[in-house]
Amino acid sequence: MDNWGDFVYPLLLGFGLFGVVLAIGTVFAYFFLVWWSKDLTKCPECGKRGAGELVESTEIGSRVYTEWRNVRDWSSFTPTRRQLFQVTEETHRDRLKCESCGHQWTRTAKQSQSEKLPTK
Ligand SMILES: [Zn+2]
Repeated sequence: MDNWGDFVYPLLLGFGLFGVVLAIGTVFAYFFLVWWSKDLTKCPECGKRGAGELVESTEIGSRVYTEWRNVRDWSSFTPTRRQLFQVTEETHRDRLKCESCGHQWTRTAKQSQSEKLPTK
């Protein structure tokens, strides 16, 4: 088995490179998420990112409605079928306070949840 290494080392190198790329990608994704979430709580007054602290969150509206959506169905011959969904949408008004300059502001955020309704 003289050239066993000829086969294994490139393979190891390949896996190693793949691992490094994966690790770098994960780190970048993590930092992007941190950066992005800090941007959500950026103070409009002094511009400090990530300074906003949630003081209170009030529900200002909610609505429930049903809608038809096309869903993939892998178990049947027709790839898509219509499915009725019940959507619950809640609108919140969040009050945030800047921990740096004390400025307060509000933002509205929408949250929706959908649930499959049984069909005949
Ligand atoms: Zn501020």
